[in-house]
Amino acid sequence: MNLPEKNLLKVKQRLLLAAQQARREADTVRLIAVSKTQPAEAVEQAYLAGQMEFGENYLQEAVDKITKLAHLTAIKWHFIGSIQSNKTKLIAQHFDWVHSVDRLKLAQRLSAQRNQDQAPLNICLQVNVSQEPSKSGVALTDVPALASQIAGLNNIRLRGLMAIPLNTSDSALQHQYFKQLHDCLLQLKQIGLPLDTLSMGMSGDMEIAIAEGATMIRVGTAIFGDRQKK
Ligand SMILES: *Cc1c(COP(=O)(O)O)cnc(C)c1O
Repeated sequence: MNLPEKNLLKVKQRLLLAAQQARREADTVRLIAVSKTQPAEAVEQAYLAGQMEFGENYLQEAVDKITKLAHLTAIKWHFIGSIQSNKTKLIAQHFDWVHSVDRLKLAQRLSAQRNQDQAPLNICLQVNVSQEPSKSGVALTDVPALASQIAGLNNIRLRGLMAIPLNTSDSALQHQYFKQLHDCLLQLKQIGLPLDTLSMGMSGDMEIAIAEGATMIRVGTAIFGDRQKK
């Protein structure tokens, strides 16, 4: 067994156990394998082991991989990195999901640049739950207004919220940030937005995210090992 294949078994076991402890069905949590800096060969190994959804952060690197792996017909690509507004066209054309939208202008550009013959692009709003000045993401209080504006755009479909909370070993705080994102999603559903996605949890905190309602976890190093140097 190759490394991604072996590690995928472990991560799925962790997912299963965490879902069980949260009294949730394991199939309500989708695993996104974060393959940034990893070679196309590692992605293909994971795909052949049954992993269909992959997350990428760096656009040019991602487009190279997507092109190289075009023969993997069931693969789905998620863009999870920070977005430069002059690069939205490549994202709109090559990805199935974008988790890192944090301003209206980006959503408008993605909407305008998504090809009509493609399925609508799935969008999550990135929320800066721990209010770190250095981090991208919209503030919790600004989410409802932005979500309402974005929900009306053509060719994209607002699906939910994403967060990368402050890196901390304080598990009470980790629970709190994930819960805040979940509460925010519930609030949006209450004002009538048809959302179904909470993208939260990574290699180190996926169990806590699942306990707090994650429907997508984004896991890199626990599947592919340490990231390659750029
Ligand atoms: C790199 C990255 C991940 C994966 O992190 P790991 O700790 O390697 O699991 C998840 N989400 C985002 C947005 C990332 O940039």
